This record gives sequence, structure tokens and C-alpha cells, in this order.
Amino acid sequence: MTGPGGGATAAIVGAGLSGSLLALFLARRGFRVEVFERRDDPRAGGKQDAEGRSINLGLSARGIRALRRAGLLGELWPHTVPMRGRFIHAPGGGTAFQPYGTAEHEILHSVRRDVLNATLVEAAETRAGVRFRFGLRCRDLDPETGTLTLTGEVTGETRQVTADLVVGADGAFSAVRRLMHRGRPAELRQECLEWGYKELTIPPAPGGGPRTPIEALHVWPAHRALIVAHPNTDDSLTGTLFLPHEGEGSFAEIRSGADAERFFDARFPGARELIPDLAGEYEANPVGSLVSVRTSPWSAAGRVVLVGDACHAVYPFYGQGMNASFEDCVVLDECLAAHPGDMGAALRAYEGLRRPHTDVLAELSARNFLELRDGLRSPARMLRARADLVLNRVFPRGWKPLYTMISHTTMPYGEALRRARRQDALLGAATAALAAGAALGGTWAARRARRTR
Ligand code: FAD
Repeated sequence: MTGPGGGATAAIVGAGLSGSLLALFLARRGFRVEVFERRDDPRAGGKQDAEGRSINLGLSARGIRALRRAGLLGELWPHTVPMRGRFIHAPGGGTAFQPYGTAEHEILHSVRRDVLNATLVEAAETRAGVRFRFGLRCRDLDPETGTLTLTGEVTGETRQVTADLVVGADGAFSAVRRLMHRGRPAELRQECLEWGYKELTIPPAPGGGPRTPIEALHVWPAHRALIVAHPNTDDSLTGTLFLPHEGEGSFAEIRSGADAERFFDARFPGARELIPDLAGEYEANPVGSLVSVRTSPWSAAGRVVLVGDACHAVYPFYGQGMNASFEDCVVLDECLAAHPGDMGAALRAYEGLRRPHTDVLAELSARNFLELRDGLRSPARMLRARADLVLNRVFPRGWKPLYTMISHTTMPYGEALRRARRQDALLGAATAALAAGAALGGTWAARRARRTR
């Protein structure tokens, strides 16, 4: 896959999910790639996520396509657990299963972030010759010359690196984004959700095997609280408790392990039994924050560009942040191939192709938070979801639920939303016509009944 890189150099800031995948693509395209990461090597297996980032992630069609292109899917499969739908645990005690789709392949795959990250780094280094420098934090950037200033997290020593292409893959609070926009016309819309999250473990049952059906995403909706749990390959599940940061029933109010136990007894009695070390984990695990970022431009000086959360962090409620970040890597790689010798044109084309769609994803992700929080308990919503799936089964090509298009296809997000709106309008019109027909039928029947009396 060599090509437009032609021996050019690329410096990537961030060896997270998007940075390490893009490193692999760029190296195969002929770039000499160095990646600078402030944390330790994920392959060392230490505790990477002192900041409380999610332990596992739902991989879907867009991420799968990117990993297949990288040639890594085969070795990752054994580390994933299929999730065939949502297993809803109603507050009253009942359960309901909502399949993610109607076709066999329309499922998600739960994978541990550390396993995925280590696999990507290992593949980029050993198979594509990427050089990773851990423990180095990006402090400064001159976009015009492509010069990065980095300092050692432990040593404090400073070094400078110049590259033909500089990539900010450094996450939602990206330093590259800030430094790239400095002194230039730029926009940044950063919103923090008033809810945060904390991870809690549902271990395997004492006699072995899972404590709850494993091949599903488990969801416990409750008043001003939500738990979702992803399955792991060892039959445990990682639960994520979402709560408001402040106010009644918030992380600020529930301070101790004993408070957490009381809270679970009241709001999540079913989940309470599944988390034996609730008190200990609640006290030990950090509270993570949820941020959404929209920004422009995504590139500067024809040589600096952003990928992943650095340019479009979204709330995690559509399970698309990583999948969209992987899709960025595919599109950027294709744009570099399509514009050999003109990096500026390639970077502009990439932003033009991606930004309208990641803006749509940000809206959908915010909307899905409200749906997961309130709607999963609403019978009207469940009926609508069922109608969508039935129509999809009857017209598999013509009718696709929005969730199916987002998660199980690589149709651009904006196109998926447009198509879903057209379907909504059709369904609305059909329902109105049926209601009108029923009303007419009612009047006719009443008249007939009067006549025969
Ligand atoms: P990151 O993964 O944040 O990586 C950025 C890297 O840059 C980090 O390694 C960081 O240490 C490094 N870095 C930062 N600053 C510097 C600096 N100055 N110098 C050097 N290095 C630096 N997505 C899904 O698709 N499916 C899911 O199910 C899903 N679930 C989620 C659940 C939760 C609770 C959360 C919070 C997110 C979830 N996501 C999910 C989103 C996903 O985690 C992100 O979209 C993804 O991690 C983005 O990858 P990235 O490489 O762009 O950023």
C-alpha cells in the first residue's frame, strides 16, 4: 500500500485508538512514522486509565471495516464477545430483549480497550516499522514548519521533532487542536454533560459462567440513573454507572460505598446482587466525565490535521466514538492516496468528507442519551422500535431503522439520518391514514347500526 508518502515523515501525537491505527496506514503508504504518547506503552499492561476511561467498547461495522483493512480483524475476534441486542432490566423487575437487527451480522462486538490498543501498537511497530515514543507529552507546535515540542513526563527533558505531516490524535482535550488554532480563525464548541460515569465489575458466577446472559449489552434504566454493562471474554461484565455529577442521587451526594449500596437497593435492586464488591469498587474507581467536541478547521498550514476525538468527541450513547475515529483513519488514508503530492488538498478533502457527518453523529449521540435515560422504559418507544424491525424484516432493502444504518452499515451518518427522516415521514403518514380510515369506518358502522335499529 505504498504511495503518496514516498519517504515523507509523519509525527502523530497520541498512541490511543485512532493514533495507532492511522500510524499503521500511513507507514504502509510510505510515510516514516513516529508516534508520541504521554502515557506508558499499553503493551506493558499497567493501569493506563487512572482518568477512569471506559474499559470496554462496542465495535460495529465502521470499526470492523477499518480493522479489516488493517489486517487485524482475525487476531482480534477471539478477544471479542458478540452482543446480539440490548437486554433491558426494567425498574419493576421484568426484562426485555431488543435485538440490534434482523440479520445475523447485525450485532455489536464487545472488546477491551487495552487489548485493542495494544494490538494496534504492536502491529504498527512490528509489521509497518512505526516508532513509538512513550512518556512524551506534546507541549508546543509550529504548524508552519511542522515542529513539535515534547517533554518527558518523568524526565522533564524537552525535544523537538519536525515532520511533513503532523497529526493530532490526542483525544477530546487535544493539545494539537489548541496549538494549531492559536492565532487563526477557528471554532470550538465543547460541552460537558452534567452526568459522569464510573465503572463497576460484574464478576463471573462463583461456580463459573456468567451471572446474566452474556451475549448482550445489559441496560438498567432508572430515575436519573442508568447502568449499561458490556460482556467480557472471561464471562464477567463491565458495568458503567451513569449519574448526574450534582444534585439528588448524584456522584456528589453518593460519597461512600455504604451510600452506594443504599442507592442501588433503592434504584437498581437487580443489579445490586450482581456486583459483590459494589462498596469497594465505588470508593476506589474514579468518576469519568463525558465531553462533546465540535470544531473547525480540522487542518492548518497544509500539514497539520486532527483525527478521532480531537476533532469530534461525542457522548458515548450511540457507541460510535471509536468506530467514527477508525473511519476517519480510513478516509484520511484514502484522501492522501487521491491527492498525491498535495497534502493540503488531501487534508481539506478529508475534512470536507467527514465533518458534516460527525456533526450529525454528535446530535444523534446526545439524543440517544435522552432515549437511553428515559425512552427505554416508554412503551411507545418500544412499540416504534418493534415496528421499525418488522418493516425491516418485510422490506429488508427498502426499510432500515436508523440504529441499523448507524451501527451495521458504513453509510455516511448524514445520509443515514436523511433516510431515517424520510421513513419517519412515511410511517407518520401511514399511521395518520390508518387512523383516518378507522374513524371513517367507525362513522359508517354507526350509521349502519342506526339504520338497522
Ligand atoms: P483517545 O482514545 O482518547 O486517545 C488519545 C491519546 O492521546 C491517549 O492515549 C492520550 O494519552 C494521548 N494524549 C493526549 N494528550 C497528549 C499530549 N499532549 N501528548 C501526547 N499524548 C497525548 N466508542 C465506541 O465506538 N464504542 C463504544 O462502545 C464506546 N464506549 C465508550 C464509553 C465511554 C464511557 C467513553 C468515555 C467513550 C466511549 N467510546 C466508545 C468512545 C471512544 O472511547 C473514543 O471515541 C476513542 O477512544 C477515541 O479515540 P482517540 O484515539 O481519538 O482518542
